[in-house]
Amino acid sequence: MGINTVAVIGAGTMGAGIAQVCAQAGWHTNLYDAFPEGLERGMNTIDAFWDKGIARGKTTAEQKATWAANLHAVSDMREAVKDADLVIEAVPEIPDLKHKIFADLGTMTKQDCILGTNTSSLSIADIAAASGRADKVIGMHFFNPVPIMKLLELIKHDSCSESTIEAATSAGEAMGKTTILVKDVPGFATSRLGVVLGNEAIRMLADGVASAKDIDTAMVLGYKHPMGPLALTDLVGLDVRRDILLNLKKSFNDDSYTPHPLLEKLISEGRLGKKSGKGIYDWSSGSAEETELL
Ligand code: NAD
Repeated sequence: MGINTVAVIGAGTMGAGIAQVCAQAGWHTNLYDAFPEGLERGMNTIDAFWDKGIARGKTTAEQKATWAANLHAVSDMREAVKDADLVIEAVPEIPDLKHKIFADLGTMTKQDCILGTNTSSLSIADIAAASGRADKVIGMHFFNPVPIMKLLELIKHDSCSESTIEAATSAGEAMGKTTILVKDVPGFATSRLGVVLGNEAIRMLADGVASAKDIDTAMVLGYKHPMGPLALTDLVGLDVRRDILLNLKKSFNDDSYTPHPLLEKLISEGRLGKKSGKGIYDWSSGSAEETELL
């Protein structure tokens, strides 16, 4: 299946990055968000990324102009998706919200349109069922920051067709990603390991085992992780990680996935990670600085 037009639903941390790589892949890309300020922020994030690339000599002004011409901010969802060959949803990790979006996509898109969800932990089968066109729905789990991270985790559920898997695989390759194919189990291959490591690191921090930087350095230098679990939690978003833990806890009926109270406390104070300027670390200087937690 050839792709000409892509729509991305939700212009936050992930949606903006996904729209960026779609525009860079040469597709007509419509970025939609339910909130005008969300859409504006997403477009500004992409623009700033490209400008930084130019400043660092990695991108030319001509490339940016070509990519920017492919990218369109669209404030009406029906308009954004009506001609799309591929829609990728990246709204918050709330089951009812995703199901509603897919029910709408089932009626607003072309019959042969592939519908991808960037959910980190929810059942793809349930999201697919909501669309009324389950064979066309597939999990397309990108990683943050999308333009840099190479992995695209594709998640197949029982009703997902082979042609949908093939289309999503070649779309991923066109975006410069390496794809893996995983069964539709809670947390897939990546989120389950990632959130457990992050939650345990927060428990160790709360217990005073070591400073945030030292816990992160333990994994960076001791286990060759490119980034420590606490800095990564800040990058992903504390609220996003909390929601994934809660979904795993419910799906597996297992209290060991309960978000640590320190994670809940930071979220209640609006400390959501890098996106809010402060999470486990203070990011106001542009890099991770230790800060008061308890
Ligand atoms: P985010 O909060 O940064 O962005 C979500 C965006 O969706 C916001 O701009 C919001 O305005 C918009 N939105 C809310 N309701 C909407 C609606 N009804 N229609 C359209 N837009 C709507 O969240 P995020 O971090 O980008 O996460 C999005 C999804 O990606 C979640 O399912 C999350 O689990 C998943 N994910 C996140 C990461 C990460 O590192 N942040 C990584 C992989 C997957």
